[in-house]
Amino acid sequence: MFLFFGVLIMERCIATVSTMTGEAGIGIVRMSGKGCWDVGKKVFVPAFGQVTEADHRKMKYGHIMEDDQLVDEVMICFMKAPNTYTREDMVEIYTHGGPMSVKKVYRLLLEKGAVPAERGEFTKRAFLNGRIDLSQAEAVKDLVSAKTDMAYKASLNQLEGGLQKEITGHRQKLLNVLSTIEYAINFTEDDDTYDVAPAIVEGRQVLEALLKMRSSANRGKIVKEGIRTVIVGKPNVGKSSILNALLRENRAIVTDVAGTTRDVIEEMLDLGGIALRLMDTAGIRETEDVVEAIGVERSLQSLQGADLVLAVFDVSQALDEEDREVLDHIRDKNAIILLNKEDLAPVWEPQDLGLDHIDLVTLSAETGTGLEDLEQKILDRFFDGGLPSAESLMITNERHAHLLDEAIEALDRAILDLEAAISLELCEVDVRSAWLKLGEITGETADDDVLNKIFSDFCIGK
Ligand code: GDP
Repeated sequence: MFLFFGVLIMERCIATVSTMTGEAGIGIVRMSGKGCWDVGKKVFVPAFGQVTEADHRKMKYGHIMEDDQLVDEVMICFMKAPNTYTREDMVEIYTHGGPMSVKKVYRLLLEKGAVPAERGEFTKRAFLNGRIDLSQAEAVKDLVSAKTDMAYKASLNQLEGGLQKEITGHRQKLLNVLSTIEYAINFTEDDDTYDVAPAIVEGRQVLEALLKMRSSANRGKIVKEGIRTVIVGKPNVGKSSILNALLRENRAIVTDVAGTTRDVIEEMLDLGGIALRLMDTAGIRETEDVVEAIGVERSLQSLQGADLVLAVFDVSQALDEEDREVLDHIRDKNAIILLNKEDLAPVWEPQDLGLDHIDLVTLSAETGTGLEDLEQKILDRFFDGGLPSAESLMITNERHAHLLDEAIEALDRAILDLEAAISLELCEVDVRSAWLKLGEITGETADDDVLNKIFSDFCIGK
């Protein structure tokens, strides 16, 4: 929908199944765009009365019919532009949740004039029609995929416009800086004494705020994506026992990863609102035979790209060559050393490892001692000084972090040049560039390629 000489022009009617396919209580098929009420009225026979404009956002009960053939018994909701998710006319049909009901209703809508929606097209329309900005649209995707309380709250905050408001405020200030510079450029044509100090002060304020925001990105990434963790250690030191013990203590996160084509399978657990993603099944789920066969080697391969390495040693057995090899591999990694089987008589001391700069946790997967200590150490490692509060603004998106970097670089250069009284024209270019980069976060200055890329990452139906 967009305004054309004061008239609302709506995009073509799109339809999609918005719920997961499978056996479920209900399934939702929805439409948005020009003529979707007509398509809805063609297939829906209300149990009482007719569908009228007065039905806006009201649930109606009735049947979906294909000519005189019953397709499903449904609830339906007709919604009138502009007070809808997309700001266009919309219809949502609540069918029975089985794959057949949903599919048949969807097919029927296509037959009656709707076209299949592209990925993220509903949210894209909400963005293009100005209901949400780009950072809020991205938050919708994050909210749908959030697996922990913290990830959920961070995306909800962004969806509510937390980031949008902040960025918009900074862009406004950059406009002030720009106008001061532009004024100075014109002014100095006659007289070179125009004072740019206010622009420097305001520019610095924005720069500091952007740097602060940028510094939250590491935590933000962990909040959103979780801590990619690898457990390494030679066979029989207790890797799978530790994993199981951690899973017993914490809530396991149900994911749709297992059994898919991804070659790395992960166990996920919720550690105080943060996802601990334990990568790789080598030594985790396989039988001991396979563990022997795959051994340390396979686990070591997964060290690449890990945020955290948990290196397990058995204190009840003498350290050997294989243990030393594990140590060699974790020396330069973000690692915590786990001294397992502390319930058995230890035959060596932590200092025998010859590493004094790596955190150690003594524990027993068998009795559970030391597990809490381990959990706390993991959280401290990433959130020293406490977990972020739900309200604090965090950069959780790599695209935003990258754009912030570019804005910071340009603004920093502009301020240094202003202070050194170097060409005002160059300063203007840099401040404008920072303003444009920030605008890409909210979408005001993002081009079609960026938009297409962002929305093509959405799940179907959103
Ligand atoms: P992995 O090959 O490293 O995954 O080791 P497992 O978790 O399969 O454990 C090997 C053996 O050590 C099993 O028999 C476990 O029951 C035992 N084990 C693991 N952790 C402990 C522990 O903390 N104390 C004791 N006493 N035995 C343990």
